[in-house]
Amino acid sequence: MPELISRIHQMKSWSEKARREGFKIGFVPTMGYFHEGHLALMRHAKELADKVVVSIFVNPIQFGPQEDFAAYPRDLERDARLAEKTGVDILFVPEAREMYPAHYQTFVEVTELSKPLCGAKRPGHFRGVATVVLKLLHIVHPHLAVFGLKDYQQYLVIRQMVKDLNLDVEIVGHPIVREKDGLAMSSRNTYLSPAERKSATCLYRALCLAEEKIKKGLREVNVLKDELARFILSHPYTKIDYIEFCDPETLAPVEKIKGRTLLALAVFVGRARLIDNLVLELEDAA
Ligand code: AMP
Repeated sequence: MPELISRIHQMKSWSEKARREGFKIGFVPTMGYFHEGHLALMRHAKELADKVVVSIFVNPIQFGPQEDFAAYPRDLERDARLAEKTGVDILFVPEAREMYPAHYQTFVEVTELSKPLCGAKRPGHFRGVATVVLKLLHIVHPHLAVFGLKDYQQYLVIRQMVKDLNLDVEIVGHPIVREKDGLAMSSRNTYLSPAERKSATCLYRALCLAEEKIKKGLREVNVLKDELARFILSHPYTKIDYIEFCDPETLAPVEKIKGRTLLALAVFVGRARLIDNLVLELEDAA
């Protein structure tokens, strides 16, 4: 079993000792309730580093008041068992009252990249994410940290924060890990009833549909959005939060597909808000 650390000062001393001994530290921040996507990030971190720290922290400040903070699935014993096989050395499980004690008042904001997509739909979300990741990077002090590209905007926000604040950590992106039928793995998939689970494949299938239409020559984003919305809404229990095509570096919206374009989706299936994305690579950059 990986060693469990819950106190911040203990995590800091473990890391400083590992660094003194010359070990390269890899870090995977998570909210727990592991699935194969998390485990793939851990295995990747173990390939790139000598020691791997995984944090489990359901970060209250990245949830809106109407969101699923209380309902978010938690099972530390199950997580410890799953993490064991990936070669994780430390599970860092801080407590909210130590991360945000009374009178806590410091936040970090990545202003532009946090605005569109999930930032527009979840006000304050990326401020909460950037703040907790900055705190965790200070506490764990890793050489590198691995983030999943399922949360593509989060990856860009963190990369920008690390660059802007001159942090000495390498940010590594990991491809999206999917179920056999294409559904992106997510702890929130546990909210889905069997019937909703069937509908949930429409996110991935919408990404594939867009790719196909674009290959056939469709370039107008408005037309593509309409077709994707119609396709998604033909599945029961779905409600679209957004369908956006944008520049994969700046997240600026595009009107016509040219070169590399990010297609990002957020769709409610029942009460589960699911996200997925695809970077479309156009060979004819015309
Ligand atoms: P979470 O516990 O949902 O906050 O996710 C922790 C990390 O795992 C984040 O970097 C996510 O982007 C990543 N992650 C979650 N699901 C997937 C997935 N299906 N594929 C790749 N990475 C993922």
